[in-house]
Amino acid sequence: MERETPLTVTASWFSLTWVTARTAAITEPHVDGFIRANLWYLRGRERDLLVDTGNGIAPVRPVLERLSRGGTRDIVALATHAHIDHVGGLHEFERRLLHPAETDAAARIGDQAPLATADWPHTLKERLADNGYILPSLLVDALPHPGFDPAAFRITPAAPTYFVQGGDMIDLGGRRLTVIELPGHTRGSIGLLDEEENALLAGDAVYEGQLIDTLPESDVALYTRTMERLLALPVDAVYPGHGAPFGRDTLRAIARAYLRRAER
Ligand SMILES: [Zn+2]
Ligand SMILES: [Zn+2]
Repeated sequence: MERETPLTVTASWFSLTWVTARTAAITEPHVDGFIRANLWYLRGRERDLLVDTGNGIAPVRPVLERLSRGGTRDIVALATHAHIDHVGGLHEFERRLLHPAETDAAARIGDQAPLATADWPHTLKERLADNGYILPSLLVDALPHPGFDPAAFRITPAAPTYFVQGGDMIDLGGRRLTVIELPGHTRGSIGLLDEEENALLAGDAVYEGQLIDTLPESDVALYTRTMERLLALPVDAVYPGHGAPFGRDTLRAIARAYLRRAER
């Protein structure tokens, strides 16, 4: 064991930052960087959309409800793909959107302890180590409440209530989002195009950092086509699944770097 001091309990598990008047980024500062995903909260006139739901270590819905100062909001949840750091809080919502190709992975999400890395795929650990990143044995540095046991924690699985595929429109009232298929990281990975803000919510298809395409559920040929598509996408802002938002130049640089690497 590399950690001997007991973990402290933190009062607020999530951190929230508004990036525009109607778009907020929520993260989990106390999880390891590898599973510190962004939850994107998009406000509409009639309803709101939470794009990705974190690891499920603490409930995220109360965080969103506090923003409405007692008023109730109609909140729909969508997962860009069925990885632990994106579907953990999906079960808190009555309406859950997912691509059909991710259904099996979502159903199996509670089978493994996500915060203890001992049983994680060896190939993934090796690839990360090759890039100088050694996964710690435990992926949290604090507890959401006393008595929480990170090694025993399991995500509550939640079946999707609606399937979404490329071209589908999600209408929040005064704000419409179009589903775009971005397979490669996983076969059912999706993003959303926000025409109002000329932004792409990208999930794990693109972010600044090591992109993951060596999982059993990854597909390099599909990823290559996704990158070719992203290269031509005329968006001003990208809200990625991990890390800070970036602009079109960075999107193109990430796509070009991937395509150069895939050629070799
Ligand atoms: Zn992720
Ligand atoms: Zn992922």
